[in-house]
Amino acid sequence: MPKKLFSLSFILLLSQTVFAWGFWAHQRINRMAVFTLPPEMIVLYKKNIEYLTEHAVDPDKRRGAIEGEDACHFIDIDHYGTYPFVDFPRYWDEAVKVYTEDSLKAYGIVPFHIPVVMKRLTQAFKDKDLDRIMKLSADLGHYVGDSHVPLHTTENYNGQMTGQKGIHGFWESRLPELYASKYNFYVGKAVLVEDVLLEPWDAVMESHKALDSVLAFEKELTESFPTDKKFGFENRNGILVRTYSQEFSLAYHQRLNGMVERRMRQSIRRVGSFWYTAWKNAGSPDLSELVDKTPQEVKESYKRKLQIIDREMADNTATGYRPCKVGSTYELRNPFDESFFCCAIAHHKPH
Ligand SMILES: [Zn+2]
Ligand SMILES: [Zn+2]
Repeated sequence: MPKKLFSLSFILLLSQTVFAWGFWAHQRINRMAVFTLPPEMIVLYKKNIEYLTEHAVDPDKRRGAIEGEDACHFIDIDHYGTYPFVDFPRYWDEAVKVYTEDSLKAYGIVPFHIPVVMKRLTQAFKDKDLDRIMKLSADLGHYVGDSHVPLHTTENYNGQMTGQKGIHGFWESRLPELYASKYNFYVGKAVLVEDVLLEPWDAVMESHKALDSVLAFEKELTESFPTDKKFGFENRNGILVRTYSQEFSLAYHQRLNGMVERRMRQSIRRVGSFWYTAWKNAGSPDLSELVDKTPQEVKESYKRKLQIIDREMADNTATGYRPCKVGSTYELRNPFDESFFCCAIAHHKPH
């Protein structure tokens, strides 16, 4: 088989397997957040639960294609000092004065971006616009979820600075894939978010506080584990994929002592609470009249382009890396509004 053809079919096959569970956690978070909502909201959200699940990963698909999207998924907070970063301004305008917009965006802006999406969602509720309510709810769930991942709050996001390359996908994809079926995702009721601007910072701080353990436990285990037992090969649709072994994964998961589950549960609670707060802040509009409508699906041409990105990402998610496409020629437009262009920056890196 010609080499090019082989690698294409390799990627195609991977896309059906690896990609699906690579984003399993995001989908689960959006899905379970529906069950935190009050009856006035659940009537609409339950009806659209498949939409919210499926589109939980749209923001990641856009990362390689939309200039500026990437920064919305993380913040390298340790670039600015040490925990609890008391000197770092929590409000955008103040932070811009100290660091400039370009440099803030270069190190990620997830806690600043969440309130932006919240504002758009609140407006969508006021307008009773089902397409935007669902699309922005799915997006918001994604960004809130990202802010709960410890490795989304550090410059050492893939262990590349400490000889632990691959730990990003290990923690956020491999561990949930193996163990989340036993997690308890019932987290109680959504609550009103008192301060929409500061709440995302609580998530980031909790995440960053856990980072030490995420890195240290993996390092300690690696030192005590026989080298040939850390990684193994798994057969996925006839393809051998190199990944962290079952034994190593189990030992790490036990060492983390429920951390992945706790971060996922906290994500679910916060996603539900942000949705609920947006609805409340919009004046608790009656959503029952939207129940019979179906949100407009993304246009076919746009869908095809996302599928191309799916294939390209599949190759990367297998190893815990995400694609980096500066100056990509893709032309993606948000079918509903301009919210893809959340921030325009030239800096771009895989995260
Ligand atoms: Zn993301
Ligand atoms: Zn990630």
